[in-house]
Amino acid sequence: MTRFLVFLIAAYIIYYLLRNSLKSKTPENTPRRQKGNKTDVVTTHLKEIAYVFYSAAKDDDTCDVCMALDGRHMLPNHKMLHSIKPPHSDCKSPKGCRCTLVYVTRDEEGSKEIESLLKKRGGMCDKQTIEKGRSG
Ligand SMILES: [Zn+2]
Repeated sequence: MTRFLVFLIAAYIIYYLLRNSLKSKTPENTPRRQKGNKTDVVTTHLKEIAYVFYSAAKDDDTCDVCMALDGRHMLPNHKMLHSIKPPHSDCKSPKGCRCTLVYVTRDEEGSKEIESLLKKRGGMCDKQTIEKGRSG
């Protein structure tokens, strides 16, 4: 009889522990789902972006490197995007690097043309190529 009682208690403890572990999984899942939603938002956001272009301040203080990169267009998934991402640590401008990357979404007028032009040219074009592609 005592053995049976011990078995019952053990069974109850196991049941209790299992139930608790199930319970603790539920609140854990909720923040995970939220995180999942966040990444979904980021991915959809990236999908909506047609292209990215580099924009320098273009004043007397803008350094040559930044000036040369100004107007460069890229696809949002281009490898180079990360390496040319401003601000530049070696920027020679006395005011510091004031360049930005401009993200253009697909609903912007003419953005799809530029996106397809970029795809034809391997994902990156300079200002001149974009201007030529636009006019012709
Ligand atoms: Zn710069």
